Amino acid sequence: MSAAITSVLQENRVFPPPRGFVEQANIAGMAQYQALCSKAQADHEGFWADLAKEHLLWHKPFSQTLDQSNKPFYRWFHDGELNVSYNCLDKHLGTATEHKTAIIFEADDGTVTELSYRELHDRVCRFANGLKSLGHGRGERAIIYMPMSIHAVVAMQACARLGITHSVVFGGFSSKSLHERIVDAGATLVIAADEQVRGGKHIPLKPAVDEAFAMGGCEAVRHVVVWRRTGGAIAFHPPRDVWWDDIEAGQSSTCEPVWVPAEHPLFILYTSGSTGKPKGVQHASGGYLLHAKLTMQWTFDIKASDVFWCTADVGWVTGHTYVAYGPLAVGATEIIFEGVPTYPDAARFWKMIERHRCTIFYTAPTAIRSLIKASETDEKVHPARSDLSSLRLLGSVGEPINPEAWMWYHRHVGGERCPIVDTFWQTETGGHMITPLPGATPLVPGSCTLPLPGIDAAIVDEAAHDMPHGQGGILVIKKPWPSMIRTIWGDPERFKKSYFPEELKGYYLAGDGAVRNKDTGYFTITGRIDDVLNVSGHRLGTMEVESALVAHPLVA
Ligand code: AMP
Repeated sequence: MSAAITSVLQENRVFPPPRGFVEQANIAGMAQYQALCSKAQADHEGFWADLAKEHLLWHKPFSQTLDQSNKPFYRWFHDGELNVSYNCLDKHLGTATEHKTAIIFEADDGTVTELSYRELHDRVCRFANGLKSLGHGRGERAIIYMPMSIHAVVAMQACARLGITHSVVFGGFSSKSLHERIVDAGATLVIAADEQVRGGKHIPLKPAVDEAFAMGGCEAVRHVVVWRRTGGAIAFHPPRDVWWDDIEAGQSSTCEPVWVPAEHPLFILYTSGSTGKPKGVQHASGGYLLHAKLTMQWTFDIKASDVFWCTADVGWVTGHTYVAYGPLAVGATEIIFEGVPTYPDAARFWKMIERHRCTIFYTAPTAIRSLIKASETDEKVHPARSDLSSLRLLGSVGEPINPEAWMWYHRHVGGERCPIVDTFWQTETGGHMITPLPGATPLVPGSCTLPLPGIDAAIVDEAAHDMPHGQGGILVIKKPWPSMIRTIWGDPERFKKSYFPEELKGYYLAGDGAVRNKDTGYFTITGRIDDVLNVSGHRLGTMEVESALVAHPLVA
């Protein structure tokens, strides 16, 4: 067992929620948390049904909450109809939120653009109308290959509005990965930028699209919509290639949402498996959005006055749930950042928190560790040099946070007054699974503490027997939940084998090892149990490492 995990297991510092935080919290105190858990335990389906009715706007109400007739292909709210983009944008029109800032975008060079909910709605509609004018619509798949930008969110929301299933490919991925995803998803549309700008450098994106096409097999793609981010020189192949600005020009700022069944695939997001090609994790519309919205309220305690900042790229699931969908579903003001934390120097995050009066900050342990290191060698980039007094809550995601990094984050960024939510979840779970609730859960550095209400997480052995607290085992989720993965795109057998292996008696296999504290029952994640490495919060399969190695001319 690694030293970091051992130190978590021996961790005895406890940080109860500050009283001021509890007084205003959406879930205030452990009794309220436990009441929600008991409600879910007594009537799992009823619990989720009530929440789905309360939190989502349905075009057609659902009559069945959970369909279990074809396990493990669960369906939630399946005969209900809704539209995700309508639930994120239109619902705020005519309310106090309409003219509130939806997005504060800061470009790599520091240029700031702000957009209200009304403006965002209008832009999504104009772009959706542009896609429609090209003949794209419901039932198709779009690959989105974009930098962090307002345009990336507009593209995702426009797809959702039209019932087009999107698959975002991280801008740092190569043309080979892009090709693999275009082909596997059967994409008919690609939305890309000419280039992206990170750390003062221009990095080409559209050329990678052309390289992917040159590899063959992308013939189903009818259009590549190109957003001119930099105006850099790129090859352009009309009529396949069209400019974003051209298709948007003159379009109406209203676009009737396409009502889809709750199970309609909102997106496919590829993640590494231990063997073979990446898995296209397919998420549904209704259940996914419900969990995105709920966790904004439960985990992030979101309020109308908050300025929320999740630093994840939209290429990862965190950037889907906590950039593109969750914050908008609750009508929050959010910050989106194009660049990197170390440019122009390693104080960038702290300066941005100060500049935009950020109140909730959510980032990855890797980023925290690298900024700790930077501030040790250069006092000028230490968080103490910035005014971080606006912060009230911090979050961590992507990998275990070691207690030393937790303590530094708590002291130097959170001023010892902000709770830290260490959120355990995965691409497949759609949203948080095991996490403290900031106004309820006493925190222990390095532990993601307890499951959310309605999430039946447990630790078992290889034959699905419960492990006693204090003994490590396999992390499972015993009951289905609304935002769970629906299938692996095009490979239902692999879905069953990977996540619902027979010996686990129908439990969802997370692929992580975990252990619960003997006294508190708190969970600590001990790492992946398969051959997948978690590097800087991103999963890499051993196959990918192997193929990268053998691709080198010096490797036989
Ligand atoms: P991904 O699907 O790429 O977001 O990766 C999910 C994996 O990241 C999980 O299966 C865990 O191994 C790891 N992970 C995510 N969040 C946490 C966390 N808060 N603590 C420990 N591990 C985490």
